[in-house]
Amino acid sequence: MGCRVFTKEYSVETRSRFDVIRVTHLIEDAVRESKIADGFVLVFAPHATAAIAVNEYEPRIVEDYVSWIKKVIPPGAGWRHDEIDDNAHAHIASLVIGQSKVLPLSGGRIVRGVWQEILLLEFDGPRRRSLVVQVYGP
Ligand code: ZN
Repeated sequence: MGCRVFTKEYSVETRSRFDVIRVTHLIEDAVRESKIADGFVLVFAPHATAAIAVNEYEPRIVEDYVSWIKKVIPPGAGWRHDEIDDNAHAHIASLVIGQSKVLPLSGGRIVRGVWQEILLLEFDGPRRRSLVVQVYGP
């Protein structure tokens, strides 16, 4: 049996320089539309200054994610790339956290823990971001 691939692209507006946006519902919409029940789903942000993560979306921990990123990779800390467009910290955060996640798909549902939401992380907003979702399965 062959493998089908269903691709869907979404546009997401981020609201500030650093932002964390829950996109779980968009991924679930793509899965539903794909009619693929078992396989896996790839979530990809085609950007060099944003990232995709899977974790809890609760206001305090969301603030903690952003504080941690700012602490570990501080904006304006003498990065060479800042000479060009002042966003070296955003490139590095994207590099470290990564631009994609793969999640298992079983019985028409994304397999995830109760506290696992799919998150788009913005490090150089506000901007209009793309989100590419691919669903794979027989
Ligand atoms: Zn740049």
